[in-house]
Amino acid sequence: MNNRLYGNLIFELSQAGRKGYSLPKNRFGDYKVPQEQRRQNDAELPECDEMTVVRHYTNLSADNFGVDNGFYPLGSCTMKYNPKIDEEMAALPQFQNLHPLQPAETVKGAEAVCTLLCRSLCELTGLHAFTLKPFAGAHGELTGLMVIRRYHESRHDDARRIVIVPDSAHGTNPASAAVCGLETMEVKSLSDGTVDVDALRELLAQHGPEIAAMMMTNPNTLGLFERQIPLIGKMVHEAGALMYYDGANLNPMLGACRPGDMGFDVMHINLHKTFSTPHGGGGPGAGPVGVRKGLETFFPEVSPYHGNFAVAIRAYAYILSLGREHVKEVGPLATLNANYIKESLKDVYELPIDTTCCHEFVFDGLKDKSTGVTTMDVAKRLLDYGYHAPTIYFPLLFHESLMIEPTENESRETLDGFIAVMRKIAEEAKTDPELVKSAPHNTPIGRVDDVLAAKHPITTFKQLTQSPLS
Ligand SMILES: *Cc1c(COP(=O)(O)O)cnc(C)c1O
Repeated sequence: MNNRLYGNLIFELSQAGRKGYSLPKNRFGDYKVPQEQRRQNDAELPECDEMTVVRHYTNLSADNFGVDNGFYPLGSCTMKYNPKIDEEMAALPQFQNLHPLQPAETVKGAEAVCTLLCRSLCELTGLHAFTLKPFAGAHGELTGLMVIRRYHESRHDDARRIVIVPDSAHGTNPASAAVCGLETMEVKSLSDGTVDVDALRELLAQHGPEIAAMMMTNPNTLGLFERQIPLIGKMVHEAGALMYYDGANLNPMLGACRPGDMGFDVMHINLHKTFSTPHGGGGPGAGPVGVRKGLETFFPEVSPYHGNFAVAIRAYAYILSLGREHVKEVGPLATLNANYIKESLKDVYELPIDTTCCHEFVFDGLKDKSTGVTTMDVAKRLLDYGYHAPTIYFPLLFHESLMIEPTENESRETLDGFIAVMRKIAEEAKTDPELVKSAPHNTPIGRVDDVLAAKHPITTFKQLTQSPLS
């Protein structure tokens, strides 16, 4: 154990009158803040010396888990290694110190990054033009749907107000359609999780002239390749609607196939999932939108300036550092790594859809259901072994979903280590189920009450009656 002065909050380390700074004398002479602009009471700030502050925050950061600490197999989110060179490029002072209102002739280099990134994205996706303005995947969906809406409006095809969304889609799909002022209609999935073409045919027959677009996620939410895309695209286009590609997780496609070639008209890519940029905790992100030729005139203004420029720099650095040759290995490696884990564990974890997956796949809990050990218990026990848990209880198609995505970046040894621990937990579930059910045992805090924490969050510091230091 370390000898840190254990204060969970910096306020608990506060000593009245203690200072960690010394400011120079006021340079503004007798300038005084006008009375009406002054606060009534002193700000209640912690009072600590510099070493205490540095150690407090350094220790807190060490309690965190991230891709730089260990394996992070969170499905549906692509938590991948973010090459340090990309961070360095984004941190170059020549980029970092730019001001969005600088004269255009002084930011030619930054403009070139945006232009070249768009050109790379066009080449990788087979689409004609990209806009970097959207700040996230959901924002990209909204932007893409606005393009589609404006396209139909330009043709006075005003009845097209329905967006077809598969029932397995990410929740942002129907939400984006609603924000865009459109309606959604759900199309069912088959038992293997892919779109039910017959159900789609029926929807199109009933509502054809009202359909604006069909949104598809590929690989879909179960990590499966939608094999019927050419047929679906043909049906949707014949009905006069456009095809939208949710390319949030494009990594398994890189080098394998391109949405443009598959017949999609509009798509977004999450740069923060596919092309570097760490995410989690809500940001930062970028969801560039690409369109086929002719649709670029419908790009709306969805953000000022150039979107999240620092994310664009990282994405371009990632693409450049791999190069045209190696970027094509991303898809096959992401796919190989996921299938390797799936095949190595499917004798002990329930695999409801036993087929080749793309970059991720879903187990439905442990195979042996008699132990009473749940997906939640397995996820908590993984923390004891130093792994971040996979995505759990999503997608909703199964009761005990455990969604695993290793990404293209992990070594064989890392995957083997994870597989060994997952097998060990399956064994423990049989021999000592209580050990798994009461996990985690080695983390700074045990199981939190998720519901209580979400419904009654404590967001303010209340002075403890007794400081742990006194
Ligand atoms: C993550 C994700 C989104 C949403 O992206 P955000 O950047 O979180 O808004 C949309 N669709 C799919 C399939 C995703 O995985």
